[in-house]
Amino acid sequence: MSFSSLGLSEPLLRAVDEEGYASPYPIQVEAIPVVLSGRDLMAAAQTGTGKTAGFTLPLLQLLSGGQKVKANNIRALVLVPTRELAVQVADSVATYGKYLSVKSEVVFGGVKINPQMMKLRGGTDLLVATPGRLLDLYRQNALRFSQLEVLVLDEADRMLDLGFISDVHKIITLLPKSRQNLLFSATFSDEVRGLVDELLNDPVQIGFCQQNTTAQSVRQWIIEVDKSKKIALLSHLVRSNKWNQLLVFVNTKQDANRLTQRLTGDGVSAVAIHGNKSQGARTRALADFKANNVSVLVATDIVARGIDISELPHVINFELPKVSENYIHRIGRTGRAGLEGEAISLVSADEVKLLSDIESLIHQTLVRKTEVGFVPTHNVPLTKLINRPKKPKKPKKQKIKGEK
Ligand code: AMP
Repeated sequence: MSFSSLGLSEPLLRAVDEEGYASPYPIQVEAIPVVLSGRDLMAAAQTGTGKTAGFTLPLLQLLSGGQKVKANNIRALVLVPTRELAVQVADSVATYGKYLSVKSEVVFGGVKINPQMMKLRGGTDLLVATPGRLLDLYRQNALRFSQLEVLVLDEADRMLDLGFISDVHKIITLLPKSRQNLLFSATFSDEVRGLVDELLNDPVQIGFCQQNTTAQSVRQWIIEVDKSKKIALLSHLVRSNKWNQLLVFVNTKQDANRLTQRLTGDGVSAVAIHGNKSQGARTRALADFKANNVSVLVATDIVARGIDISELPHVINFELPKVSENYIHRIGRTGRAGLEGEAISLVSADEVKLLSDIESLIHQTLVRKTEVGFVPTHNVPLTKLINRPKKPKKPKKQKIKGEK
């Protein structure tokens, strides 16, 4: 299968070719013709599957023709949950659309609104936006939706997890009724399905056989460890494996800061990225990590979703996520674009319930490994607390007469 057989125009094929994409990924094979046909789409897609090109390529093609956009109007809106993802999608749009004259912009919160208002004045064909900032811009009359043709909800599950549902509802009510809708989500909870029912009109469904499964390219296992020994184990893993690009997940901003300090104190270069950091600090942290200036990026779920680091080989769950679906999102950061990855979870006794929830969600029992060379002194033997297949009992030795 080639990109040209999907009905994409020459300027897009040239851009894709320059990116070195030899052939389309499965989601692209399925999504591109559907989007070009003008139908609604509901796609179960994890990150790393190539979904961004799956919708941006055909969108750019649709937008390269048709009506001319008027002042402050937009023709396609891509709603994303985080600033990082907004930047990444906008980068993809710029890359794939470089030989087309489609005007695109990106807007997100945490930075000054005025320059964004200026950018939108002349009209925009494709706008990538986070929900809150989009509404602010609308309220300040910087945006009009009367020409809107296509709405894309990217990472819809994450959008709901982050509490954007009421913003998304408000935005939907502002849009023209007749439009094309595309919804992408890694997981489909009842809440996401509610949104699907509200938004999509007889959608083509793709990718559902892989729902709630983790990428085949990611090797996953857990290491059982006493809570108080996790930092020592993490430092040990980084050093003994000579890892120089590792993404570590924690559950709270405080934990991210604390862990970063402790790792730095341990001689491991680390930087934290979370929602309390300014946009500048987040961009810097990510750039330092991508440039290999720091070995460990400690992240919370909220910001991690948008991080696209090609060739990220390792992900560590320092703590298991409280929401099981986030396990899939977290480990989806590695093993992207056809490369192999490793996802290791450090699991302490208090996380047994979270572990079993994750295992039932992904329909697999994660391999338990012990870390050779690291000898944690457990107060409680964790193997007793964490379900693992029971070893068959050894038969009792028969006492032979005269034996001591
Ligand atoms: P995404 O899931 O959209 O975040 O894409 C994951 C990564 O795959 C990105 O770094 C893309 O540049 C890359 N990618 C997307 N489509 C292809 C393709 N057909 N061939 C090779 N790489 C691709």
